[in-house]
Amino acid sequence: MANKEGMLILFSGPSGVGKDAVLDIVLNKDKSLQKSISLTTRDIRENEVDGKDYYFISMDEFENMIAQGKVLEFAKYGSNLYGTPKAPIDKWLSEGKTVILKIEVQGATKIKELYPDSVAIFVLPPSMKELENRLRSRGTEKEDDIKKRLDIAREEIKRSKDYDFIVINDDLESVSNNVLSIVKSLDFSYKRMNNYVSEVINNV
Ligand code: 5GP
Repeated sequence: MANKEGMLILFSGPSGVGKDAVLDIVLNKDKSLQKSISLTTRDIRENEVDGKDYYFISMDEFENMIAQGKVLEFAKYGSNLYGTPKAPIDKWLSEGKTVILKIEVQGATKIKELYPDSVAIFVLPPSMKELENRLRSRGTEKEDDIKKRLDIAREEIKRSKDYDFIVINDDLESVSNNVLSIVKSLDFSYKRMNNYVSEVINNV
C-alpha cells in the first residue's frame, strides 16, 4: 500500500496551560508521532534538558541560523526568540511522519501559510483564574513575567478562532485522549487516504 503523506500538527495554548504535560502523555501513547524541538534564547529551567525540551542557544546563534535560512518560522515571545528548525521538518515530512510543533499563535499563523494542510489544535485553560494559579504554582517565572504571560494569554485565546480544534485542559488524562483522537482521525483524512483510493481503483 502507498505511503501516507507527512503532516504537521500545530499545538498552541497560553503559557501555563499544560501543553508540555499533555504532549508528554500524547507522545508516550502514540510512538509514531514526532515532536519538533524548537530553538529558544530563553534561559533553561531547572527541570529542562537541552536538546530534548528546546535547543537553548544565544541571540547571536539564533540570528545566524535565521540568516542562513535554517529557521522555518520564529517569533518573539516576551523578550526571547523561539523558532522551528527547518531541516528536521523537511526530513520528517518526506518520511510521511506526523510532526507536532509546540508553537505560539504568530508562529502557527506562519506555518499555516507555508503548509495550508497543517492542523491546528488550541489548548484552553478551564478559566483565567485557574491559568494564573497554574502559572504561579509552577514557580518558574518572576511576578513580572507572570503578568506579561497572562496578558499574552488573553490575546492568544482571542486568536483561538483561527484554530481547527479546541481542547480544554481540565483533566490531563482526558485532554490527552482528546488530542490523541484528533490526531488519529487525521489518518483518515482524504489528504492521507487519496493514494489508497487511487490504488483501489487502479489495481484491478
Ligand atoms: P515557554 O517559554 O513557556 O517554553 O514558551 C513560550 C511560548 O513559546 C509558548 O507559547 C510556546 O508554545 C512557544 N514556542 C515554543 N517553541 C516555539 C517555536 O518554535 N516557535 C514559536 N513561534 N513559538 C514557540
